[in-house]
Amino acid sequence: TEAPAMLELVDLQVFYGAIQALKGINVTVRQGEVVALLGANGAGKTTTLRTISGLLQPRHGEVRLGGERIDGVPSHKVVELGIGQSPEGRRVFPVMTVLENLEMGAYRFKGVPKDDLERVLDLFPRLAERRTQLAGTLSGGEQQMLAIGRALMGRPNLLLLDEPSMGLAPLIVQQIFEIIKEINDQGTTVLLVEQNASQALQLADRGYVLETGAIVMEDDASALLSDPRVRAAYLGEG
Ligand code: ATP
Repeated sequence: TEAPAMLELVDLQVFYGAIQALKGINVTVRQGEVVALLGANGAGKTTTLRTISGLLQPRHGEVRLGGERIDGVPSHKVVELGIGQSPEGRRVFPVMTVLENLEMGAYRFKGVPKDDLERVLDLFPRLAERRTQLAGTLSGGEQQMLAIGRALMGRPNLLLLDEPSMGLAPLIVQQIFEIIKEINDQGTTVLLVEQNASQALQLADRGYVLETGAIVMEDDASALLSDPRVRAAYLGEG
């Protein structure tokens, strides 16, 4: 008895001009899951997320949310459909405070829902302590927390995370992954793009491996974690 599919990518092909970045990928994210999308630099991970969030249009194939096609829906409407994204490189608004950044995340609501703000500040006590600090003066890890917190303020059913561990010290990465688990436990489905395969697969239910625009492996996270090919290519072994 599997949970219903929330997000489906069906034979998705995406091009930048003549360059084909996605060569017909099929990915399913079920309600309640954490799904990891792994792959090396340039494999097409960010392109996949940008296509889901409506920033890129596929040349072929479909993006479906709850069975309905959403490719062709503009990105601000995709947010309203319940898809939140924390972008690569944690792009927060540097000369706005922590609180103002979080409020921006709630722009699709009238006013800032207090419960959501409280929930995010509970999840990220570091942000609560620094709520009046300018975002540009936060540490890398705190900016990553803020980018995730801001995405949560839009009350997503599906949260897209682009390399939340990038450039962060191992202890901070650990903390961020624990918070992602908590967010998932609270009911948000997560699609997690990572180069840090070990951390991602320890958290995820299932995973996909993307190589030069094609899915080359998909399995339960525990199976991928013990797969010799994954260990050799993505966990620095062999
Ligand atoms: P990284 O981890 O380095 O961000 P990625 O897996 O997210 O890698 P993408 O950013 O999706 O990879 O890039 C996939 C391919 O598409 C790469 O070959 C990249 O050079 C190419 N590409 C990405 N953006 C553009 C663009 N705006 N114009 C042309 N080619 C692009």
